[in-house]
Amino acid sequence: MTRIYLSPPEVGPDERATLLEAFDSNWIAPAGPDIDAFEREVAERTGVEHAVALSSGTAALHLSLLLAGVEPGDEVLVPSFTFIASAAAATYVGARPVFVDCSPESWNLDPALAEEALLKGAARGRLPAAVITVDLYGETADYAALEALCVRFDVPLIEDSAEAVGSTHRGRAAGSFGAAGVFSFNGNKIITTSGGGMLVTANRGWAERARYLATQAREPFAHYEHVEVGYNYRLSNLLAALGRAQLRGLPSRMARRQQIDAAYREGLAGLPGISPMPRTAAGTPNYWLTCVLIDPATFGADREQVRLALEEADIESRPTWKPLHLQPAFSGIDLIGPGHCARIFERGLCLPTGSALTPADQARIIDIIGSQARA
Ligand SMILES: *Cc1c(COP(=O)(O)O)cnc(C)c1O
Repeated sequence: MTRIYLSPPEVGPDERATLLEAFDSNWIAPAGPDIDAFEREVAERTGVEHAVALSSGTAALHLSLLLAGVEPGDEVLVPSFTFIASAAAATYVGARPVFVDCSPESWNLDPALAEEALLKGAARGRLPAAVITVDLYGETADYAALEALCVRFDVPLIEDSAEAVGSTHRGRAAGSFGAAGVFSFNGNKIITTSGGGMLVTANRGWAERARYLATQAREPFAHYEHVEVGYNYRLSNLLAALGRAQLRGLPSRMARRQQIDAAYREGLAGLPGISPMPRTAAGTPNYWLTCVLIDPATFGADREQVRLALEEADIESRPTWKPLHLQPAFSGIDLIGPGHCARIFERGLCLPTGSALTPADQARIIDIIGSQARA
């Protein structure tokens, strides 16, 4: 039996053919027709005017903060319950993250606590220079509240939709909220270019500047002329071709992950002390990952024992994100909020959801989890 990974890529004949066509066209560069087409297709799907293909979601976050005008010494409001890239971008521009807790009802940034943080900042005469929201595990954050909050305090909102390609919120695509949205096409995301990302924005000026900064801030001269120092952040044309094929397969992959999510909910429903992550009424997620909370007293084993039992059978599962305010890299930065994210981290486990996971393999995963429960 081969190892079952958490969220492996699923590629097929369409990806292979599209990639080889790009290869044969000799557009083997961070420029080419597949990049232009991939950008158009992602922009269209997101319902946003502009998209800029980049080498990673992290690069897209970095450029977003530069576009938002975040400067050294500024503060950036970031949820604590997320992957480090959301906050690393703040560090890249010399800013300091302000970590805010999640709501236990959504696992996403709690608007009431974000408001508290903004009020505190306003009282000190020092508002954050940007708010980064995250659409965690494919669930969108509470944009009715968060958009209004950012408008009220006049702080640009950057939407980290790295995990939410394909998700929608009240009918609007994830990534389309705020001043800029960020997607990731890393290897374990719902669609992948092996590594890659996209910045989407309704602002033409921002899109042009993102493209400029991502190509070493090269000026339009025959020779290499630079007024500013930029970055080498463009996506390869080969990977854009791969991304186009993956994007075509996104609806079927989302449908498959939704089935997997439903099968976990059904298969684990009879066990004591284990509950699936919350789903919100306002969002239609892409079902990137299904996570569960395990209460050791009721379940009879803790999430680490369950993880190790799965590992024993060569099945990868992973604790939910370790909150950033608990990361040594950010020691000294406190959390605003009561610490819901820390409690979720202690009990939370992400289960395999790859779109190629077979029903038989998923049944085996559910059996192993059940075998750890109190009899
Ligand atoms: C994956 C991820 C990123 C970073 O994307 P890369 O393409 O890996 O750089 C950023 N934010 C979140 C929440 C992510 O899950």
